[in-house]
Amino acid sequence: ANANDDLKALIRTIPDFPKPGILFRDITTLLLNPAGFAASIARMADATHGPIDLVAGIEARGFLFAAALASPLKAGVLLIRKDGKLPGATIAEDYALEYGQDRIAMHADALAPGARVLLVDDLIATGGTARAAIRLLRKAGASVSQAQFLVDLPDLGGAKLLRDDGVDVSALIS
Ligand code: IMP
Repeated sequence: ANANDDLKALIRTIPDFPKPGILFRDITTLLLNPAGFAASIARMADATHGPIDLVAGIEARGFLFAAALASPLKAGVLLIRKDGKLPGATIAEDYALEYGQDRIAMHADALAPGARVLLVDDLIATGGTARAAIRLLRKAGASVSQAQFLVDLPDLGGAKLLRDDGVDVSALIS
């Protein structure tokens, strides 16, 4: 048995979502499990090294993990949202999708230069979303040296691309 097999057992695979041929890893079943969600947060906090000023969560499921990690890491929460959702002045970053592109944004004044930011999301696949978030955070002056995910889909290569960008990547489930 591998570490975190208990958590892996709490996620399920839904075929053909959101499109035919896609195997969607559904983590809502882990969120519903009190011990499973608590253990996920505790293990992500344990995997974090050094002081963290802000935990940056990617909309929407990344918010859940970022919010829960903020207290054990004694950090604040920075929201990275789909463009057009944040009320203040924002900076944005575009990233490519399979067809077309998307844009994420953060408040321009959310962090002080040099702030130590941990990036968090529920899952990394191609890494397109996380890499755009890292470009955005670095454009704002953040020091982003760590990223954590509940799930990594290693065949899609995203974690490797983040490591090539100088980020220490960890995921509980592969
Ligand atoms: P990437 O940009 O290809 O790495 O996709 C990661 C983003 O899409 C994350 O924000 C995930 O929440 C979401 N995502 C992609 N595939 C899945 C999946 O199978 N389950 C849950 N979320 C997914």
